[in-house]
Amino acid sequence: MEPAQSPVDVDVLVVGAGVTGIYQLYLAREAGFSVLMLEAGTGVGGTWYWNRYPGSRYDSESYTYGYFFSRELFNNWTWPEVFTGQPENERYFNHVVDRFDLRRHIRFNARIVAEDWDERAGSWIVRAEDGMEIRARFVVNATGVLSAPVYPRVPGREDFKGIAHHTGLWPKEPVEFAGKRVAVVGTGSSGVQVIPVIADEVASLTVYQRTPNWCVPLNNRVIPAGEQAEIKADFERIREIVTSNGSGFLHVPHDRTTFEETREQRWAFYETMWRSPGFAKLSTNYTDLLTSRDANAEWCAFLEEKYRSIVKDPATVEKLIPRDHLYAGKRPPYVTGYFETFNKPHVDLVDLRETPMVRVTEKGIEATDGEREFDIIVWATGFDFGTGALLRMGIRGRGGLSLNDYWAEGPMTYLGVMAHGFPNMFFPGGPHGGAGNNPRYNGDQSEFIHGVFEFMRQHHYRTVEVPAEVEKTWNDMVTLYSAKQPFGEKSYFFGANIPGKPKRFLNNPGGRLLMKQMMADTAESEYKGFLS
Ligand code: NAP
Repeated sequence: MEPAQSPVDVDVLVVGAGVTGIYQLYLAREAGFSVLMLEAGTGVGGTWYWNRYPGSRYDSESYTYGYFFSRELFNNWTWPEVFTGQPENERYFNHVVDRFDLRRHIRFNARIVAEDWDERAGSWIVRAEDGMEIRARFVVNATGVLSAPVYPRVPGREDFKGIAHHTGLWPKEPVEFAGKRVAVVGTGSSGVQVIPVIADEVASLTVYQRTPNWCVPLNNRVIPAGEQAEIKADFERIREIVTSNGSGFLHVPHDRTTFEETREQRWAFYETMWRSPGFAKLSTNYTDLLTSRDANAEWCAFLEEKYRSIVKDPATVEKLIPRDHLYAGKRPPYVTGYFETFNKPHVDLVDLRETPMVRVTEKGIEATDGEREFDIIVWATGFDFGTGALLRMGIRGRGGLSLNDYWAEGPMTYLGVMAHGFPNMFFPGGPHGGAGNNPRYNGDQSEFIHGVFEFMRQHHYRTVEVPAEVEKTWNDMVTLYSAKQPFGEKSYFFGANIPGKPKRFLNNPGGRLLMKQMMADTAESEYKGFLS
């Protein structure tokens, strides 16, 4: 590093000990930068630290979600299942930080309340809730897109005298469900994971659903020893595929469109999709699934048939079939035994569109058809996606410009990693970033950011900032392609779940390959116009 005008505590400060932050920390530390990581929780894992609700598990294949920067790490860690659960995932991130001796660079219980760019010094002053203050040359906010939990704006939530937890803020102590009257509010990916897992323990389970989702089987399984050995031996090929393709998954895309085949062939193919692992239903389905409404509706017709064949009560299954969006109009959940749960006599489904929630009471939940009493309420009601965490951190850039003001109409980013007016600050894994297997996208972003650090050190630059006109090229791409991408305006990808949030696309609609190309071009230009 070039000597600073005023000394910094660290070259690189990383905020957030999740999958992205840990990799960024590793890269910077390995390259000899002085580093520090601040984490609001008491442990590492990010999503896999906070979301410790029963049933929480990957829906990306475990060995494609983990890191690829070390063959030894890949060889020495055994994922017991194709889609491992939260405890195993959290163990993995602990293993990584210990194996690479990163823990000594992490301060826990450090929730950031302010980040201020000091123009004169060319560095950031970062403050935590407990008063700790750190001066850093670069700040990397790896705070995640699904890390600011939200609750419904319904009166009385604080009045409830029983136990209540949000899935994204689940306690470390076990929650005793046995024999309890339980409500689960929300049927997104988190709710539909909790529901079947607790159903057999509880005395009664009431599911409050506003919008049904196109849930499909996760098809998890144990990975037998022979296959484990094959996966490990195949490291180079697996790494090559997931680091270079568009999705970040190993899945091989199909080569046919929906109506090229007869109905009989289609239904046979859909059956193989139904039995395929996780996201393969999206990434290996007919190639027009996400571009043709008729093709998508055909797949939905197959799913509807499946649901009707599983759920015995006709009135219940009717409520479980989405009518306001097609497949991937919202982020599709992957389930295990979800629909079967509604055949159990002590499980009820409340359709909040028919009987909206009125208030939470001391004893339970009141909807327009009356009050139901509960011992436990599980709020599986989602997150302020994309921008939520970053806009809660008090970030102020050049001239005191607040990120909240700069993004008042939606995020403005370059490559989903930096914003004009906020020099030397990055947010890999933030808005405009992912659109597939997230750790792979975020890993590309971390490597791009790290390349900037290396270049600046080598060429003695002190400040990096994306020029406004360059940032505009990326945001124009987001606007152009978001109109064509599959996730609909009803999804949280457009901020639709937060009242008053601007309706802007929050993911990367151009996909990974375009992002990688633009990153390569930017690096090849030697960050022309970015550096001073
Ligand atoms: P979510 O998908 O946003 O679902 C939230 C649920 O709460 C929805 O059913 C929503 O209904 C409901 N809800 C929100 N506000 C409500 C209100 N005021 N009244 C009634 N219901 C309300 O959140 P999530 O389930 O936590 O999942 C978020 C994302 O996290 C997923 O899409 C996924 O990317 C990730 N995730 C991944 C996994 C995994 O398998 N790896 C597991 C869990 C989560 P509406 O749809 O009507 O808004």
